[in-house]
Amino acid sequence: MQVYYGCYLLQSLTNVRRTLNRTYIGFTMDPRRRLRQHNGEITAGAHKTKRWRPWQMILCVWGFPTKVLALQFEFAWQHPNICRHVRDRVSHLGFCKLTRNGKQCPVLGVMQNIQVLVEMLKTAPYSKLPLRVHFIDEGAWAELPKLPAAAGLPTHMSFTHGSFDHLERLCAESMMAMPVTGSECAKCSGLLQPGERLVSCPHCECPLHLSCAAQIFTKETSQLMPDQPGNCPKCTRTTEWPVLIRSARRLSTSPSIPEAQVAAEAAETDTEDEVQIIDSETQSTLRARSTKRASLDAGCAKAPKAPKAPKAPEAPEAPELPSPVTPSPKPAKAEDGPEIERPLAPRLRDRLAMRLGGGLVI
Ligand SMILES: [Zn+2]
Ligand SMILES: [Zn+2]
Repeated sequence: MQVYYGCYLLQSLTNVRRTLNRTYIGFTMDPRRRLRQHNGEITAGAHKTKRWRPWQMILCVWGFPTKVLALQFEFAWQHPNICRHVRDRVSHLGFCKLTRNGKQCPVLGVMQNIQVLVEMLKTAPYSKLPLRVHFIDEGAWAELPKLPAAAGLPTHMSFTHGSFDHLERLCAESMMAMPVTGSECAKCSGLLQPGERLVSCPHCECPLHLSCAAQIFTKETSQLMPDQPGNCPKCTRTTEWPVLIRSARRLSTSPSIPEAQVAAEAAETDTEDEVQIIDSETQSTLRARSTKRASLDAGCAKAPKAPKAPKAPEAPEAPELPSPVTPSPKPAKAEDGPEIERPLAPRLRDRLAMRLGGGLVI
């Protein structure tokens, strides 16, 4: 079951002068609900943004294979000059600056934050993720094609425009039902078992074990993240890895439960989880959170230093971390973070297949 993990951009609509440019970038599993929290329609959470209510949601970036990846993306979008992957890409943007103390100056303005987003989407590792961007704000959507940088956006990413209802429909479609237990993997011909992680060819829809698909794409090379297209073992048509991985799902272990019910239950749990995170945003957990964020962003050379703090609420996610584009979230110096592009020794390839299988699907 795939779950919605997304980052979003808000704009304050408050009438006080100089706050029209105030924006906020956050992470959520339920954008509609999160906006209501920011606007105080639902109690719990969003205290940081209380002062500049009301807010409108400009856009959501979604399709992150894991929550950790979404949180990393959120951190990088909030700190483009600090994140190693992004800082060179945004260096030409005059509004992206560091303070004298080496901290990120907030990027003000909707289009400014969208420009940072566009640069991020064109930069590895984000450019290899199966991301989608959904614009809720008509004005920003109309401005997007006018950005010179928008021309080179990765072709596998999709850009849509519409209401929250539209976004939810897109999300539901992405959770389409998978083949039933008993179908065969198109590569190894093994019978698909409940609980296994699968992807399906976008052309012929044949199912593949995620680990089998990873073997097809990494071929004889030792690369960690496939960057060449691969061929479907059944229809032989060429597919980009991010497109294939977008279909990643776990075969249901309870086929008797209707799909919609499973989806509803999953959504509910996630929402509670999100609310819990927000509820616990006291000063100390904020510090803990920032520590964790810093460690999450293994690409940050100047990760904010924060005192050792108790586990952040997101901590339970940590064991699920391994994925082809996510270095382990070691609370260490940036230089210690494993490079995504770093080649793996061939003997690690089998482990890689397991990691691919273990980290990409919820
Ligand atoms: Zn297989
Ligand atoms: Zn195929």
